[in-house]
This record gives sequence, structure tokens and C-alpha cells, in this order.
Amino acid sequence: MSGIRPRRPVAEQGLLDIMGMTSDEFVAASFEQGVPRGRALQAYRTMFREGRFEGDWFGIEDPPVNRREVEGQTTKFTLALGDDHETESVLIPMHHRKHGTTRTLCVSSQIGCAMGCEFCETAQMGLVRNLSAGQIVSQWWAATHRVDTTVKNMVFMGMGEPMDNLDEVLQSIRVLTDHNGPAVPSSNISISTVGRIDGINRVAEFVKQPGYHRLNLAISVNAPNDRIRSELMPINRAMKMSELQEALLAFPLRGGAAFCAEYVLIPGVNDGDDHCDELSRWLEPLRCSLNVIPYNPRRDSPWPAPEEHDVERFISRAIANGCFVKRRGTKGRDVMAACGQLGNPEIRRRKRVEGSGLVQPVVEGRSLKVDPR
Ligand code: SF4
Repeated sequence: MSGIRPRRPVAEQGLLDIMGMTSDEFVAASFEQGVPRGRALQAYRTMFREGRFEGDWFGIEDPPVNRREVEGQTTKFTLALGDDHETESVLIPMHHRKHGTTRTLCVSSQIGCAMGCEFCETAQMGLVRNLSAGQIVSQWWAATHRVDTTVKNMVFMGMGEPMDNLDEVLQSIRVLTDHNGPAVPSSNISISTVGRIDGINRVAEFVKQPGYHRLNLAISVNAPNDRIRSELMPINRAMKMSELQEALLAFPLRGGAAFCAEYVLIPGVNDGDDHCDELSRWLEPLRCSLNVIPYNPRRDSPWPAPEEHDVERFISRAIANGCFVKRRGTKGRDVMAACGQLGNPEIRRRKRVEGSGLVQPVVEGRSLKVDPR
């Protein structure tokens, strides 16, 4: 259990701060203001279970939620943060043979991103700022109580690199899994990372705590070797694929679980047969599934989307090489809701105000300075 986080009285905090508290933290902070524990706990449950606010210490209004339906029932929604910024989230329908259709919520952990991946629309913004735990949890709350959707799974795959804002991401997971709150099973939550090894090591420690051992980890691999990966993903200039593999091998995966290795398939860049074979060899010692994502061209992209027959060829070859392969569609392309396409165009050119200290984007243009550790 984390320490008591709120330092300001609950009454002075906004809704988005309050949503960053676990029930224990909320009850303790409310109790300090004279609110009986039982009443505070009831208010916490009502906020998360029914989307209503009880008690006069909730002197707050709903944050404005804007939503837009797109193809195949994919919904993108934004949540105004009151500082001229907004979170962006996507609700994606997942069709299962046995369970019908469920919804996966893709949440943002930052506004913009400092990681500068070449294929990614969000990278064009640079990092504007981190989101707080409450601002992350509020995306679940808005999806559930204002967009009125039952969310089954959550993936940290929206704007931002979760490992670049890990304190807030882990706190949001404590809240999301709180039985008095959203009660999302940790097995239904995935953190997707560009491959920050320091972050992977911290998550490895986090999942050793009771209640979190079923948390899932997805890695954006996107290349078969260091040469291509360093061109596509600046993080690889600091953290090589061999080090990434080592960190994943040391990760305490629960029995029967597997990593998800994401691979954005880009024509002429990483989609050759030799690329597939090299990737398969890199994946071989890891317990993982390979998630092939046909490239979804960002604005001013130098690459087109791959041809269907090339996607099928790559997947068939990976299967023949012994990989367990899934294919992800690119739902929501027409509202900039597809993978690697989140990012409000109006704020895309805003300058970075804070960063990880590892990869520091130069604010004009797309060049990056990378710590050569
Ligand atoms: S792919 Fe992910 S980590 Fe890379 S720039 Fe985009 S949002 Fe950031």
C-alpha cells in the first residue's frame, strides 16, 4: 500500500486529483477533515461505481467529455483538463468467438510523447506534459460513466510512454484495481512500452507485490535488429535490443503468461523475409506473442500502408518460424484514433515542458538528442 498522497484537504482538490487516490488514501484524507470513514468510503464507491458524487466535500463539476463515434464502433473521446490541455482515449471493440464483443480502453499517460518514434503521429507533438494518476484514472471513469461503456480491458497505449511517467502510471493502476473503486482486474491491464529498461525493471518489482502479478507488459519492438530499430526508435540508441531481451528474460512472468511484442509492419523498412527470420530469432527465447500491426501512415509519412499480401506473407513466415502471431487491425483511422495517431493537431506544435531526462526532443523539427549511456 502506498503512503497517503493528498497533502491538500480533499475539499480543495479537483475531481481529477481525487481520482488519483486509492480508497484508503481518500478515506484517510477525508477523515482528517472530520468526515467519518464509513461515509467517505461510501462516497468513494459511489463515485466509481455509479459515477455520482456524494458529500459536500465534492464541490466539483464534471470535466467536459467530447466523444466521436467512428468506424466499427470505435470511439475516441477527449477529456478537458482545465489547463488548455486534454487527454485522448480510444474505446476499441474486440470481437470474441465465445464472449461476443467487449471494449478495450486505450488510455494516454502523457500529453504528447518525448520518444520520437518515426512512424508515430503523437511523436510530432514532442512531450507537452505528464498526466497525473487522477487524470489517467479519469479516462476510465469518463468511458464508464459518461460515454456509458463497459470497459473490459485497459491498455496504456495512447499518447505517451508509460515508463516515462511511471510513478503516476503505477499509482493509477493501484486505483484502477482498487476493489472499492474501478476494480479492474490487473490481468486486464497492459502497460505498453517503447522498451525503457529502467521502467521494465521497476515494473518487474511492482508485479511482485500482492495483487499485481497478473499485470501485462507489451513491448514495441518494430524492428529485427539494432540498425533498423535505432532509425525508427531513438530509444534504441541508448538501450539496445540485447539489453531489452535481457530485461525481459529477467521479468517475473506469472505461469502461463506471455509478453506481447508489437511490430508495426512498414513496407520496405522491416517487412522483408530476412527481417521476419531475424525477428523470430530474437523472440525465440522469450515467452511472447507477436502482434503484427500494419503501418497506419501518419501525416506526411514517408511510407505507405503495407499491401495486404505482404502482411499475410510476413505473418505466415513468422508462424512457420514458430512464433505465436496475432494481427491487429487499424481501427479508427479516420479520426486519428488508430495506433500511433493520437495527438490533437492544434497542440502538436507546442513545446515540451518536461521530459524523462533520457531522451530530450529538440523542440523544433524532429531531431532528438539521446543520452549516449
Ligand atoms: S509510438 Fe508510443 S513511445 Fe513512440 S513516440 Fe509514439 S506514443 Fe511515444
